[in-house]
Amino acid sequence: MYDAVTAFIDNNLDDSINALIKLCRIPSVAAKNEGLEEAAALVESMLKDVGLETEIHPTSGAPVVTGWLDVGAKRTLLFYDHYDVQPAEPFNLWESPPFEPEIRNGRLYGRGVADNKGDTISRIWTLKAFKDTDTKLPVNIKFVIEGEEEIGSVNLPEYTEKNTDFLAADGGIWEFGGAGIDGRQEAWLGLKGILYVELESEHLSRDVHSSNACILPSAASRLVLALNSLKDSTSHILIEGFYDNIKQLTESELEAIKKIDLHEEQLKNVYGIDEYLNDLSGDDLKNAYYGDPTCNICGLTSGYQGKGPMTVLPARASCKVDFRLVEGMHPDDIYNKLGKHLVDAGFIDVKVTLLQGYPAAKTPINHSFVKIVEAANKRVFGDMVIHPTSPGSGPLYLFNKHVPMVSIGCGDYESKAHSPNESIVIENYRMAMHRIVAVMDEMCK
Ligand SMILES: [Zn+2]
Repeated sequence: MYDAVTAFIDNNLDDSINALIKLCRIPSVAAKNEGLEEAAALVESMLKDVGLETEIHPTSGAPVVTGWLDVGAKRTLLFYDHYDVQPAEPFNLWESPPFEPEIRNGRLYGRGVADNKGDTISRIWTLKAFKDTDTKLPVNIKFVIEGEEEIGSVNLPEYTEKNTDFLAADGGIWEFGGAGIDGRQEAWLGLKGILYVELESEHLSRDVHSSNACILPSAASRLVLALNSLKDSTSHILIEGFYDNIKQLTESELEAIKKIDLHEEQLKNVYGIDEYLNDLSGDDLKNAYYGDPTCNICGLTSGYQGKGPMTVLPARASCKVDFRLVEGMHPDDIYNKLGKHLVDAGFIDVKVTLLQGYPAAKTPINHSFVKIVEAANKRVFGDMVIHPTSPGSGPLYLFNKHVPMVSIGCGDYESKAHSPNESIVIENYRMAMHRIVAVMDEMCK
């Protein structure tokens, strides 16, 4: 089935890698608001080249690029991708320049090759294979490609809320995925939500000599005390009502989780730890990984941290905290509860700023589209691991009311997304295109 299409993919692999390199040469870093228009324009022209109708939707931030092709098929497949990337700093840790992709030992290195320009191009290039071999597509196609995924998709709701009809499809492929630590392909059916805040404490007009600590308040101490009030020593979160609305994992999710191997011993070596949080292991570890919310200090800043001593009483202290939210929790609710907690605990001097927030979402594990992806993967890669949710976050909640989404992709355990020397295995990239062809075919059965 579709031998001409898959042969085209294999025979033109170099051209498709060159298209990927071209997109990766644009440093489309959303955090710096750089290269976004240029990347959006290139992605749009690539969609046009493979026969799709396209539109660029302006938002208050980066534009959303959409593409569609109605071939009159019974079913429709939607892709969600993003053309923005994480900053590439620190540059000195890259073995080759981040925005000049280079192939070494069967891997393509460059910022964005894994997250998620490789996936984006592999999907567009699969359509090129249909077009250039004059093969009729078995499904209608839709693409939603945004430019602010790496900064929390802040303006994506401006597009999705106005275009709910466009989001309706029989199945959708989310932006990321690939091979796990054991080499088996993984699919992710959900994403946790997030609430990201900055906490600040300011008590003095300027930094002063630390001898004054006997009479002056300390912003750093106040912030540390406030942070300390958020969790107990077992990481149980102490904000009143924090756990109230959590939707527990379903029986079928728990059953699926039992079968998943998290490779906990192997990962201990990777992380350099002797034990997990609260000495979790086995099913408890897995249930926490998929089902628990978090309260995590992402960064903490105050005073002097340079070489040698400097006796100073800093005027200001700040930190960034992220909460990963599970289904049932809402970021606005948790934000309000956090504010109330700080006031009730006497920390009215700690200012909270909301930086990012959206809820969790999942595709049910027994949805027929999950079976379609599993069957398609089996034809190309073999067995796959199906995770009921990723512990990470993404704006899936904007889509999952309209389309069942599954996240699969061309990355792997060594891809180093968000880090220096990001890369993909070119062979995985090639096979991921074959898998998209198989997904389309399976959707018509
Ligand atoms: Zn990312």
